[in-house]
Amino acid sequence: MIEEKFDAIVVGAGMAGNACALTLARRGLKVLQLERGEYSGSKNVQGAILYADMLEKLIPDFREDAPLERHLVEQRFWMMDDRSHVGLHYRSEDFNEERPNRYTIIRAQFDKWFSSKVREAGAVVLCETTVTELAQDAYGRVIGVRTDRHDGEVHADVVVLAEGVNGLLGTRAELRERPKPDNVALAVKEMHFLPRETIEARFNLRGDEGTVIEAAGTISRGMTGMGFIYANKECVSLGIGCLVADFQKTGETPYGLLERFKRHPSVAPLIEGSEVKEYSAHLIPEGGYNAIPQLYGDGWVVVGDAAQLNNAIHREGSNLAMTSGRFAAEAIFQIKSRREKMTKDNLARYPKALHDSFVMKDLRKYRDMPALLHTNSRNFFLTYPELVAKAMENFLRVDGTPKRETEAKIFSAFRKARGFTGLFGDAFKLARAWR
Ligand SMILES: Cc1cc2nc3c(=O)[nH]c(=O)nc-3n(C[C@H](O)[C@H](O)[C@H](O)COP(=O)(O)OP(=O)(O)OC[C@H]3O[C@@H](n4cnc5c(N)ncnc54)[C@H](O)[C@@H]3O)c2cc1C
Repeated sequence: MIEEKFDAIVVGAGMAGNACALTLARRGLKVLQLERGEYSGSKNVQGAILYADMLEKLIPDFREDAPLERHLVEQRFWMMDDRSHVGLHYRSEDFNEERPNRYTIIRAQFDKWFSSKVREAGAVVLCETTVTELAQDAYGRVIGVRTDRHDGEVHADVVVLAEGVNGLLGTRAELRERPKPDNVALAVKEMHFLPRETIEARFNLRGDEGTVIEAAGTISRGMTGMGFIYANKECVSLGIGCLVADFQKTGETPYGLLERFKRHPSVAPLIEGSEVKEYSAHLIPEGGYNAIPQLYGDGWVVVGDAAQLNNAIHREGSNLAMTSGRFAAEAIFQIKSRREKMTKDNLARYPKALHDSFVMKDLRKYRDMPALLHTNSRNFFLTYPELVAKAMENFLRVDGTPKRETEAKIFSAFRKARGFTGLFGDAFKLARAWR
């Protein structure tokens, strides 16, 4: 394929791969980036919220030409039962700042732009090229990759695996295990197109202001999962995802959940009359800290979703992907500039940087949360949302019942459902996992 040897090969042109290839190329390293899709972003799925801080560290002036949708001034959280939702709603004028903190984006457009910056920095970017295997020497050290191109073997000092959550290269080479069904969610998403004024009126937005809604409750039928509704300029991204293990256990289908979510009386008016132009499905790593595999070895590192670096509690993934890609590149650059070899010991600089940063600190903080939500999913995603909705209805309905009787009804419903010991037990476990 290509005769010359590279300093680094980056497999994948998503958030992690682009961040890594860009940083390496800007540092003057000879970089080859390989992407199986027709173009960067063609295979990628996200809600999608972009966290500006992590992109600013790579491209400080990105606001000048990046394809951004809306800057977020508001976030809504909905706890849903079948006919209602109880909401928490935060909106602040402070988010109408000169350098907004979060934006909605459309990944296909955004990744294309990101990739153009990687090319400008001097990396060789080859799309429509699938890496089929890692090339290893007799000692198991990674020395390059094999691809689906004719004569497709190419060598480098180090290979960066930025192949996303379902990346097969690392698992095929036995560098890590396949993600387990209780550590990954399957999400489905649709893009609903509407006139810009309609979106702004329905979501109470002005100009480029944006809002996102995160939703949990009976919409996931007792499975561990969440729905989302994100307002873009001329379309609304809407989706839902649940753990693969829960889909296997219950026989529910992702399409079935999405259809129900769209028909919910709180959701349907937001997308009424829209035209659906895109439909996609993708996995999300949700195992958290305990599911993170070995991150480095002789001649290789793994970054982004392939390394399970995803904070499902805060719905952050792309920022962890960009940060891990950048840290891996900085570690490789340091090793290269000291003229040292890409050994496991030297590449340990990369996980050290991750551990010292928000990436591992946040993931470690919530290390018990995924297992807790999964083992108690029916309580958290079915029983409590139904009870909270009922309590709100009782609290608000005025029908001549004395307040003392209404309150007694609410307490009795909670006691019957789980007993106070069960309820306080769950609350205690949740608080401990959150600490
Ligand atoms: C429905 C959904 C909503 C989400 N919402 C958000 C959100 O709002 N905010 C957020 O921060 N995160 C969100 N995430 C998570 C976020 O999308 C990921 O964390 C992020 O995309 C990870 O980036 P990555 O580069 O590691 O992987 P990816 O973006 O998946 O990129 C991997 C790339 O590698 C390529 N590739 C794979 N194998 C090969 C191979 N063998 N050869 C060549 N190329 C290969 C793929 O084609 C792909 O381009 C969401 C995810 C989903 C599914």
